[in-house]
Amino acid sequence: MNAVDASEHYATGANEPAPSLLTIVLDTNPHAWALLEETLPLSKAVANILVFINAHLACNYANEVAVVASHSQQAAWLYPSHGQQAKISTDADGDIVMNGGLEDGSSSRSAAQANKYRPFRVVEEQVTRNLEQLLATTSASDVSATTSTMMAGALTLALSHINRQTLAWAEAHGAAKLDASTATSAELVPGGTGSGTSASGNSATGLQSRILIISVSSSTDSAHQYIPIMNAIFACQRLHVPIDVCKLSGDAVFLQQASDATKGVYMSLTEPRGLLQYLMMAFLPDQRSRRHLVLPARVDVDFRAACFCHRRVVDVGFVCSICLSIFCEPPENGDCLTCGTHLELGDYGAKPAVVARKKKKKKARTNGTPGAGTPTPVATPGR
Ligand SMILES: [Zn+2]
Ligand SMILES: [Zn+2]
Repeated sequence: MNAVDASEHYATGANEPAPSLLTIVLDTNPHAWALLEETLPLSKAVANILVFINAHLACNYANEVAVVASHSQQAAWLYPSHGQQAKISTDADGDIVMNGGLEDGSSSRSAAQANKYRPFRVVEEQVTRNLEQLLATTSASDVSATTSTMMAGALTLALSHINRQTLAWAEAHGAAKLDASTATSAELVPGGTGSGTSASGNSATGLQSRILIISVSSSTDSAHQYIPIMNAIFACQRLHVPIDVCKLSGDAVFLQQASDATKGVYMSLTEPRGLLQYLMMAFLPDQRSRRHLVLPARVDVDFRAACFCHRRVVDVGFVCSICLSIFCEPPENGDCLTCGTHLELGDYGAKPAVVARKKKKKKARTNGTPGAGTPTPVATPGR
């Protein structure tokens, strides 16, 4: 009897779902939030996000959360506060001093805080304090200097935190360490990305991480960050970290590609006031739950890229055959600006020739479809 009980206990222990790490990248671009002021002020959005974070933490006692602000001139940690620990008064054991919270709040507020579940309170305090600090240190010249947001930097911070937490979790849980190390070594092999077996094996035992981007900026301003953003996307793809995107305003070319490439959820909110509802319904389930759910599908992904020469978003461009750099026009002397390879351009008037050839192809195709007998169902009623 005892043996049976023990094995059952062991079995349930082994099947216990691994915790998940949710990293939220909050776009705090002042320009974009100023436009949203009437429908959804930043303070309300932060309140909604904090409720969502609490829901995530409540799903599993071991769940973790991290919040990064993608501001106009820098990317900064909102939670956990890295490098700012010295400012919090700590005792000899490194614990936060009990009356530390009294300084920034009234006594009635701190009395209400005392009854709060500690992880909720810690996240709320740190996020609001760090966000206040970030906004207070933003000068007028910072705001006027740029209208974009540091999305690439924020994604990089999120990725490095995920990497560190994954390693720490694997180290703390000796049994999972072996699985995690074999899984990562398999993933490091370039051909190993397509293998779904290592991914499922890893996610069953290791720390599950995902990134949620709450985006408000429009993509046209972030075209100069195209290359670092794409690198972060590819890193997420390799590590099987889905990037979820919650788009409150504007259009986001690269973020659509991010969620598409990493199999994340992309939602563009028609009504930003319902932010909490969207967060709870679409973004709360972790990867394990998502296998059993019908996720909001995104059909029209904008796959446009930005050219490497001017950081312009282009529909049609020139691609270096060696390093795959994208250019909006043939580079000077035919030398690739990235790798320096001399490219045989043939006819230098290639640009109009390409356009002309494309038109011919289209004509040939439309002429060919009725004759082929199997036209696409969409094309026939259109004619
Ligand atoms: Zn260009
Ligand atoms: Zn090249």
